[in-house]
Amino acid sequence: MPKYIFITGGVVSSLGKGITSASIGKLLESKGLKITIQKCDPYINVDPGTMNPFQHGEVYVTDDGAETDLDLGHYERFTSVPLGKENNITTGKIYDSVITKERRGDYLGATVQVVPHITNEIISNIKKVSSGKDIDIVICEIGGTVGDIESLPFLEAIRQFKQYMGRGNAINIHLTLVPYIKAAEEVKTKPTQHSVGKLREIGIQPEILICRTEKPISKKVKQKIALFCNVDEDAVIDTPDVKDIYEIPLLFQEQGLGKIILRLLELRYKEGDLSEWRDKVVKRALHPTKKVVIAVVGKYIELNDAYKSIYESLKHAGVENDAKVEIKKIDSEDIEEKDADSFLKEVDGILVPGGFGSRGIEGKIAAIKFARENNIPFFGICLGMQCAVIEFARNVCKLKKAHSTEFDKSTPFPVISLLEEQKRVKDMGGTMRLGAYQCRLKKATRTYGAYGKEKISERHRHRYEFDTHYKRSMEKDGLVISGTSPDLRLVEVVEIKDHPWFVACQFHPEFKSKPDNCHPLFRDFIKASLIHEKKDKAKK
Ligand code: GLN
Repeated sequence: MPKYIFITGGVVSSLGKGITSASIGKLLESKGLKITIQKCDPYINVDPGTMNPFQHGEVYVTDDGAETDLDLGHYERFTSVPLGKENNITTGKIYDSVITKERRGDYLGATVQVVPHITNEIISNIKKVSSGKDIDIVICEIGGTVGDIESLPFLEAIRQFKQYMGRGNAINIHLTLVPYIKAAEEVKTKPTQHSVGKLREIGIQPEILICRTEKPISKKVKQKIALFCNVDEDAVIDTPDVKDIYEIPLLFQEQGLGKIILRLLELRYKEGDLSEWRDKVVKRALHPTKKVVIAVVGKYIELNDAYKSIYESLKHAGVENDAKVEIKKIDSEDIEEKDADSFLKEVDGILVPGGFGSRGIEGKIAAIKFARENNIPFFGICLGMQCAVIEFARNVCKLKKAHSTEFDKSTPFPVISLLEEQKRVKDMGGTMRLGAYQCRLKKATRTYGAYGKEKISERHRHRYEFDTHYKRSMEKDGLVISGTSPDLRLVEVVEIKDHPWFVACQFHPEFKSKPDNCHPLFRDFIKASLIHEKKDKAKK
């Protein structure tokens, strides 16, 4: 039976529960423990796949094709844990399964209620994440903020589960805010006291408090929090704002968080080693010697979370290339109103990420045309690849009004269109081409050069595909098809030969990049952008 760590958040949202859970995972892995991490989301959607990125941020896709919360991205980036469908549960998923069982008659005439049926279903889903696996510790993050109506069934479920597991087998870590009030020149502990009080009201006493602060908090303040919240003094951990999120596991290690967790879970103490993480990731991220400016041209630019994995992957590529990657976020609709030149002439590389819907499409196509014609390194991802194909069809192959049928159903040249099996799809949830698929690369291409091998596997999330009727004529005009599905039916990567670096892929490489193991396409994109930057400087 594994041991359990339940992580809750209080006072306000956006304190970084996901990064905290991922960092604790990293810390425990460094001690040789086998872990897994799960996220419980209290919303009623079955998964975030149908949610607007403006509301929910990025949808993170796992190898097994689950559309999940973006916190799972943090878990995979910080740790070596492979995640799948079971690692993200939602109220919607729980109710869906309880109602299906009720309709089937599984409850044998019982009145189906939140307690015990919903809570039991939650408990069985928490158990499922480690079943049949060799896991020492399950880290289970409860989304939302303590006090929300919708997270109550999850909190009741973990209360019961902890009671059932018994002392030393499950603990609660609560993440709170300790604000600094400028006028009083003091940090305030009252919101933390209230938040812990709220947890106690429902029967949960946290063993560890992680306090988010602007500045480190004094021993005296920690003593006060410990006294009023009933926790050990050394179990009050503070996480002041850091320059780089990858510093958090180190910060926890310095304060002995791993040691405290092992003590509370009655596990033997093991020294952990994070020196490689410190030297290979954090030090290099904090002290780069070069700099590049990368334009990310999309439509969810105002919300940082919408392209989370893309921004993180660019950072990883910076670490790998000893460069600070400055990201210039450009709303593609703004390009439509002006011209690409005024937004893009100073940048060293252009990336067009994935997306849905026609708003801003022409701006993305204009940005790609600018990159192609001005020899600026370009990286297209999913919709970014589809736009690159449209741009090439229109402006190089002279197929006027070429488009994707997602945006123009009556285009004369549907270079991007739906496969027959997608045309029959009625339900929107979970029906895209999702998860890991094999891809075969063509030798002597930039893509092959990046991966250094022929067979790769990457994650997908899209409905539309390159229409292979146009393959031959586009190749004749200079488009290189550098990656296809093993059966050659689907085009997975395209590039342009006579260009410093122009690569666009139908899959999402950003879901597989890690701070200590950067994705090869991001690595080479930044490498090419650095060369462009150097040339540009030399010209000036
Ligand atoms: N909208 C496009 C499709 O469905 C691209 C999706 C994406 O970029 N993730 O194929």
